Amino acid sequence: MFQFPKDYCVPFDGSFALHAAPTAPPKDVADDKQLEKRLEKLVARIDELQQMFYAHDKHSLLLVFQAMDAAGKDGTIRAVTRGVNPAGFQVFSFKQPSAEELDHDFLWRTSKCLPERGRIGIFNRSYYEEVLVVRVHPEYLGGQNLPTETDHEHLWADRLESIRDHEKHLARNGTVILKFWLNVSREEQKKRFLKRLDKPDKNWKFSPGDVKERQHWDAYMDAYEQALRTTSSQHAPWYAIPADNKAYMRVAVAETIVQTLESLQMEYPKPGEADRARFAECRQLLENEGA
Ligand code: ATP
Ligand code: MG
Repeated sequence: MFQFPKDYCVPFDGSFALHAAPTAPPKDVADDKQLEKRLEKLVARIDELQQMFYAHDKHSLLLVFQAMDAAGKDGTIRAVTRGVNPAGFQVFSFKQPSAEELDHDFLWRTSKCLPERGRIGIFNRSYYEEVLVVRVHPEYLGGQNLPTETDHEHLWADRLESIRDHEKHLARNGTVILKFWLNVSREEQKKRFLKRLDKPDKNWKFSPGDVKERQHWDAYMDAYEQALRTTSSQHAPWYAIPADNKAYMRVAVAETIVQTLESLQMEYPKPGEADRARFAECRQLLENEGA
């Protein structure tokens, strides 16, 4: 009923072909009810693992979410964090950069938000926008005050290299990185936009700009293909998750997170001899209280 997340892992050898990545789940997928039950179990497990992750305090976990509009980034983030101790993770959304952000290198604004050890950081959009939306709209570079000597011919390859180096550095220093591309089909996006127009309670989600952006679909797919192909690695894998079925997508993301956390060699810190002696003293103090 469920394909293992490794099936969605983007290969590390540069062979990723976006057209072959499924947007729909496998044919024999379970029904929504079963998927929701599975999700509930996975989220309960994430909660347990998060506690141990916090106590272990050696790694941080960075979850990056990228997708076309209406693919379901927000809903997926909500689904996999629902019921997990809110102190354990932080969600950051990256929209059009501010003037201050544009006055720094392109990794600055996200670097400030990286999770500390023991914590889970979630990026709703990320530094990848710099090789996605900016690549589709190179006119945005005009607002970035780049040095005159910038090599525009190799700009995207250079940015992708910076991203690879950045992620390697983070991984070496204890950040576990998982990147999710929620792969929605063009047809499904259209359906979801129409639903937003049809249903008054969904009108607030509709943005005319999103329909305009959709006209650049092929350019976005090219940019995504390049980005995923060149930046998926053992230490910072991309997962291209089918997004046309939301319940399935959420399970696939949660499953990936659980498997990754379970693969870390985590343990609760064990008290040493001195700690145990101190515990015995404390126990005595507590037991003698008011005696
Ligand atoms: P939602 O629509 O659910 O609120 P969203 O992530 O689509 O979520 P929007 O405010 O609609 O949020 O869109 C944010 C926009 O900011 C996107 O179009 C994204 O491509 C753009 N953006 C993000 N980072 C950059 C960047 N570095 N340079 C230019 N545009 C960016
Ligand atoms: Mg939007």
